[in-house]
Amino acid sequence: MTPTGPTAEQWAAAVAAVRSAGTGDEVQLICHVNPDGDALGSMLGFGLGLRRLGYTRLRATFPGDFAVPGPYADLPGSGLLVPAGDAFVSPRLVLVFDVASESRLGDLAGLLAGAPAGVVLDHHASNTGFGGVQLVDPAAAATSVVAEELLRRLGVELDAEIAECLYVALATDTGSFKFDMTTVAVHELAARLIATGIRPGEISRRIFDSKPFGAMRLTGEVLGRAILDPSAAGGRGMVWTYATLADLDRHGQPPYILDTLIDPVRSVAEADVSVVVKEAAAGEWSVSLRSKGAVDVSGVAISQGGGGHRLAAGFTGYGEAAQVVDTVRGLLDRYLI
Ligand code: AMP
Ligand code: MN
Ligand code: MN
Repeated sequence: MTPTGPTAEQWAAAVAAVRSAGTGDEVQLICHVNPDGDALGSMLGFGLGLRRLGYTRLRATFPGDFAVPGPYADLPGSGLLVPAGDAFVSPRLVLVFDVASESRLGDLAGLLAGAPAGVVLDHHASNTGFGGVQLVDPAAAATSVVAEELLRRLGVELDAEIAECLYVALATDTGSFKFDMTTVAVHELAARLIATGIRPGEISRRIFDSKPFGAMRLTGEVLGRAILDPSAAGGRGMVWTYATLADLDRHGQPPYILDTLIDPVRSVAEADVSVVVKEAAAGEWSVSLRSKGAVDVSGVAISQGGGGHRLAAGFTGYGEAAQVVDTVRGLLDRYLI
């Protein structure tokens, strides 16, 4: 089935929903728990766009700990960020970014459900269809693709600050323009963003190539314990590793440092599937799954209460790390493509 993007009616409804809020009304922007570059970049870029339209009462947040990963802490528009506890209580309009299911909104789900107007901007194939107006395009490389289109339809002109946010979102979700969904349209969007004067090299160094020394030592240790399982996934192979809270502690690193650990793991040529299991709390693991094309890992993730894309997905697992990996291994054959 070819994924279809928002219909003309949905775009029109989204524009109407935004305009239903006056420039003095409270507008709450929300992205997913443990936000990544796309969640924060699309949310803050859109927030800045609303500011350009004259909206004055804007707040942006995400559920859970108010921990913004270091590389994104200085994004333009980060002044809009507030801890979840300081979100508006009864906003007129709620806009949700990069969130595939209500569970990823945590305690903030009620804000969307209770608001007079709400729009969900997303690109996950696993999006459950929650919330008000749906702007979900599974073919979009990042939520920022959807955000830029809605900004354009609202009459916002891109400037360097908005562009930096949207570029960070696009670059992170496409693996720096390496993944399959890096289409002509993605490069055309990147060109429009770069035309505002932003510096891609400088942004990439800040986002991807700037980590504390302790993070390198931690990564070395966690990669050093990776296990290759060539017979998994019908012989296509699986490689996996894990990281505990004690590992983070020992190296004095915050949890977000592990967000990109899947990248070196998935570069292993002998394995189609890669898995990184990261301890989030005692007996609770945040599981990252990637495939090079043999397995629909979103199927595996959804079966465990998570979600994502066909070749990049995740879920929360419980028990021992090795048990969680065993469960994944056992499911791979069922989701061979
Ligand atoms: P990650 O491995 O954390 O980079 O996530 C890969 C993809 O899976 C992203 O599109 C996430 O939105 C999705 N994902 C990760 N964890 C979960 C989860 N617990 N529930 C739903 N979707 C998830
Ligand atoms: Mn995301
Ligand atoms: Mn995304």
